[in-house]
Amino acid sequence: MDRDSAEGRPPRPGSKPAPGLYLIATPIGNMGDITYRAVETLTAADLVACEDTRVTGGLMTRLGLDRPLFPYHEHNAERARPVLLARLKEGAVVALVSDAGTPLVSDPGYRLVQACVAEGIAVTALPGASAAVTALQLSGLPNDRFLFAGFLPSRATARRQALRELAAVPATLIFYESPNRLDGSLADMAAVLGPRAAAVARELTKLHEEVVRGDLPVLAARYAEAPPRGEVVVVVAPPAGQSPATADDLDSRLARAMADGASLKDAAALVAAETGHPRRDVYARALRLAQETRE
Ligand code: SAM
Repeated sequence: MDRDSAEGRPPRPGSKPAPGLYLIATPIGNMGDITYRAVETLTAADLVACEDTRVTGGLMTRLGLDRPLFPYHEHNAERARPVLLARLKEGAVVALVSDAGTPLVSDPGYRLVQACVAEGIAVTALPGASAAVTALQLSGLPNDRFLFAGFLPSRATARRQALRELAAVPATLIFYESPNRLDGSLADMAAVLGPRAAAVARELTKLHEEVVRGDLPVLAARYAEAPPRGEVVVVVAPPAGQSPATADDLDSRLARAMADGASLKDAAALVAAETGHPRRDVYARALRLAQETRE
């Protein structure tokens, strides 16, 4: 990347990014979510590696861009990677995009990045839309600790086993799912994870965006009737009693304990026990809170 971009300013019109691989996020529905830097870099790319040239061709047309496209997907990656690496070694600016959202998030690219790192080729990520983070934001579920679990296996036995492995994880879980498998997945989640709060986020950033919130058994019953239209993400709350407390929650618990007459140390011990947060961290927070109250 040239000096201007490295310092956070948009590149000068016509300036060419430094050679290397650029991982470029594209919209997950709403075209307004393309970033300025994404357009600048796609404009200057010598080659745009993409999952499906028809999909990315459509995006480029909407952006008024015309750059050479090169297919890079799970079925041709072994053959295509050496070609991309050769271009990169010659000093090309290579963009990698997926059909939608952030490349490498349940999309191809990880081995290409690994190969670039091994070869000393510069890799730059241009952040942007991702369905996982967008769904997490809208779910209304705790977000200070979350695990992105990608797609569950499609076969029920393997899916239940994968869910059993996740059941004790003390974090919000995020799953990608196809609409046709949503009913089966929600039923298995309800059976294995129990009646946890959850959200099904559908058609994010699009005209028919919808977030349905409810306990897993309620959501399983709702989607058993008919598969939803469009793309979906499922977000599931952590196991009961292990919801990671937010900073605000910690502060109000501490303030309550101290207002009830507990010493700083006792309040920290009490809140650490209630929330499962390390006592040292809660004590540091209590100190800061006491200091702020004095100021
Ligand atoms: N790399 C993409 C990203 O950053 O979100 C994800 C690619 S993955 C192959 C496709 C899955 O992402 C879909 O099956 C769906 O679960 C989720 N997804 C993508 N776009 C979505 C949207 N607009 N609304 C809801 N889910 C979406």
